[in-house]
Amino acid sequence: MIKENLNSIQQDIPNHVTLVAVSKTKPIADIQEAYDAGQRVFGENKVQEMVTKYDALPKDIEWHMIGHLQRNKVKYMAHFVDLIHGVDSLKTLQEINKQAKKHNRVINCLLQARIAEEETKFGLSFDDIQEIVNDESFIELTNIKVVGLMGMATFTDNQAQIKKEFTSLESFFDTIKVEVKNNFELKILSMGMSGDYQLAIDCGSTMVRIGSSIFGARNYFV
Ligand SMILES: *Cc1c(COP(=O)(O)O)cnc(C)c1O
Repeated sequence: MIKENLNSIQQDIPNHVTLVAVSKTKPIADIQEAYDAGQRVFGENKVQEMVTKYDALPKDIEWHMIGHLQRNKVKYMAHFVDLIHGVDSLKTLQEINKQAKKHNRVINCLLQARIAEEETKFGLSFDDIQEIVNDESFIELTNIKVVGLMGMATFTDNQAQIKKEFTSLESFFDTIKVEVKNNFELKILSMGMSGDYQLAIDCGSTMVRIGSSIFGARNYFV
């Protein structure tokens, strides 16, 4: 099933859109099956789980951290993580920079924008993002590179609401991406999950994070 699901999603999304297969809570065997079907980019939301899977699986996999990040966990993934989607403070960027430096790497990051109406979603306001980029200490972070923005729409069936939120992020993305610096060059707009990825792509997404439509529903009790 995983192979068929992947194929049908790949046919659904245009070439310029990257598919991140969200494998959180799923066993290594499922990831291996997706890998054997050609998938190379996987997303996890817990650092320890991602490290365990990284250790067990082929090394040409690109690992994305998509969850809310605790600063004290950055060190465990700094040697291999390819893209961190959920960065929502300058302090976190500083910690990523510090850990990346130890491994002589530059770690790519996305700043997470808060676009949903729900109180529970993490993320930065557009003003917060502008402030981080303008902060004089930002440019000193030479071991990180902010390569895009990430956002999650409100969990709702209201398509107009979701569209409004995606569109607002897309237009902010277009505005701020003219500000290119050594460590700031926006190319990636990460929005869209199983339930809303088509709409997200229509609204300008270049990276979709899809879990349950590939691997099936998650069972958190396993
Ligand atoms: C779990 C998760 C996804 C994937 O969700 P699905 O609805 O299963 O596709 C995408 N993005 C983030 C940040 C997630 O935590």
